[in-house]
Amino acid sequence: MLCLVILNGVREMSDCLFCRIITGEIPSQKVYEDDYVFAFRDIAPQAPVHILVVPKEHISSAAALRPENSDAAAKCFEAIAIIAENEGLRDGFRVITNSGEHGGQTVFHLHFHLMGGKGLGSMLVVG
Ligand code: 5GP
Ligand code: ZN
Repeated sequence: MLCLVILNGVREMSDCLFCRIITGEIPSQKVYEDDYVFAFRDIAPQAPVHILVVPKEHISSAAALRPENSDAAAKCFEAIAIIAENEGLRDGFRVITNSGEHGGQTVFHLHFHLMGGKGLGSMLVVG
């Protein structure tokens, strides 16, 4: 059953996988948390370090960012810098966000893939 809760103008989706990971209802390997951001290891890592960095506010994708909610994305990037340091990614890393069908998005809660731990090449492999 889909249940929508409106709290302070923030829509939370009780059937959203990442909202449920943020609350701890679904377990994850958490690597970072603050008031705005939650980050955990991807269940199917595509690189030696593959972490999902998500805003606690439910935002469906990068396409849903607006002036009134874009702070959530900025907070994610602040967290990414901290996590990259904590993970020892001194030689660099890649941040990816997939949006919509053509972007290959599978979980519709905005998230940033933080990937590193080896040379990732110069661009995406399209597949
Ligand atoms: P997207 O394809 O939407 O950009 O990324 C979704 C990511 O979520 C995928 O990389 C997938 O492996 C990851 N994922 C899906 N379900 C789970 C889960 O239950 N736990 C964790 N840690 N990652 C998940
Ligand atoms: Zn969500």
